Parts: sequence; C-alpha cells; structure tokens
Amino acid sequence: MLTEQQIIQYQGSTDLLKDRIIFVTGAGDGIGKAAACAFAQAGATVVLAGRTVAKLEQVYDQIVAANCTQPLIYPIDLEGAKPEDYEQLAVALDEQFGRLDGLLLNAGVLGQRTPLSNYRQDVWDKVMQINMTAQFQMTQALMPVLEKSNDASVVFTTSSVGRQGRAFWGAYAISKFAIEGMVQTWAAEVDGVGSVRINAINPGATSTNMRAQAYPAENPDHLKTPEQIMPAYLFLLGPDSVGVNGQSINAQIR
Ligand code: NAP
Repeated sequence: MLTEQQIIQYQGSTDLLKDRIIFVTGAGDGIGKAAACAFAQAGATVVLAGRTVAKLEQVYDQIVAANCTQPLIYPIDLEGAKPEDYEQLAVALDEQFGRLDGLLLNAGVLGQRTPLSNYRQDVWDKVMQINMTAQFQMTQALMPVLEKSNDASVVFTTSSVGRQGRAFWGAYAISKFAIEGMVQTWAAEVDGVGSVRINAINPGATSTNMRAQAYPAENPDHLKTPEQIMPAYLFLLGPDSVGVNGQSINAQIR
C-alpha cells in the first residue's frame, strides 16, 4: 500500500477509470461534485446521485461539455429513502450496466453544533438517518451488483471528529464514528472473499458549503478546494488500490 504522502500526491493515468461504472452520492455539490468530475475525466461512467436535481444537471452539463463519457442522473433523497428504494436502484444499475465498479458514499449533513445535552431529537434522527443508516442500507442493497464487478471499490466518507471525540459536534461526529466502525466490520467480512474492497476517506478541512456552515468565521481561501483533494479519491476508486481494505485514509495532511 502507498504511504499517506504518496496517496495525497497520487496521479493515475489519464484513463485510470476507463470502463468503470461509479455511483457518487451528493454529486451535485462540494466534494461529491469534484469527485464526479474527476472520475469522469479519468474515463469513468458516473452516476450522479443526489437530492437537488438542478445541481445534478449542472454537473451533468459540465461533464458533457468536457467531452467526458456521458453520465447519468439518479435523484434520491437519503432522508426519505427506504430499503425498497435501494433495491430498486440495484435493479436499475444491474439492468443498465450488469455491474457496479465503484460506490462513493459522500452525501452527508452537519446537523447542529451544540452540546449533546441540548441536541434536538429531530435533528439527531435526520443526521443519523442520512449519515449512517442510509449509508448502510444503500451499500447492503448494492452489494450484489458490486459483487458482479471483478474489481469493486466502496468508499465511505468519514471525518476527523469521527476518530477523536470533540465537543459540540453532536450527531455528526457520532455518525462518523459509526462509519469508521461500519467500514472495519464490513471490510473484515468481505476480506479475502470476493472482489469488493471497503474503505473510508477523510477529506480533511475542505472549502465547501458544509465547512462554511461549521466554521462561518473562517476564511475559505485558507482551505483546500475539493479539486485539490481528489488524488486520494482517484487512488481508492481505481485499480492501484486493489488489496487495500478496511482502511480510513486521509485525503490531505494538515
Ligand atoms: P456539502 O458541500 O454540503 O455537500 C453535501 C452533499 O450531500 C450535497 O450534494 C447535498 O445535496 C448532499 N446531501 C445532503 N443531504 C442529502 C440527502 N438527504 N439526500 C441526498 N443527498 C444529500 O458538503 P461536503 O463538504 O462536500 O461534504 C461531503 C462529505 O465530506 C460529507 O460526508 C462530509 O461529512 C464529509 N466531510 C467534509 C469535510 C469538509 O471540510 N468539507 C470534512 C470532513 C468530512 P444538496 O446539494 O442537494 O444539498
């Protein structure tokens, strides 16, 4: 496996992801948008999933304008989606492509920045549904179609506050701790069994709407842009990470 330094500087070939089918959640904005564009640029057919169709359409247009492989749009709201919706998604992907080579579970919400003693139950439920339960349900439903690929990579999205508890990060931090645990558990279960590998990526401080919501007084010019942290994403979704399983990888070093 590459070192952390090598991963954040990783540069794959221009056709690194050629012929791969990659599903990206939260593809309409922030890190998910940059990842969808980077994957398409590297030759993948990207399925753009998210809740705001107008944003997904903009990303679609951007990818087509760059002469990359035509993407697809799959509107889905992770707050309201039920297991049967993910089953339907699995059937749709199977019918269209016969397999899935990559799943980037990127969509997430911040919730409240407040002490747990004051945390609202409705916000807790929403954050846990989107950031944890939906991630599990989607991955479980898509596993059979991922298993049809001879090299499938599942990448969950974690955070530094999901590794070390920090005050006032509430359900967001706890959901990311759950993601770390889910990756370790699931990766151990698939280890040496088939061709699916499961890892987590920690973007680190990145200039997006979510970061601005968490740190409203911060100057975003001092942060990495989503485009700057793409090397780790390309590494994990591409063939050079075969054999990497159960890892929680940093996309940048602060
Ligand atoms: P962002 O700009 O707020 O983007 C989040 C994406 O998730 C948006 O596309 C959003 O869709 C989508 N989303 C939210 N709720 C959804 C729902 N119910 N159903 C479907 N899609 C939904 O945030 P980001 O910074 O790019 O975050 C991406 C991931 O990185 C998250 O998992 C976050 O926890 C993680 N992360 C970010 C940082 C950072 O510094 N930025 C650091 C550590 C971890 P809409 O566009 O429709 O709202």
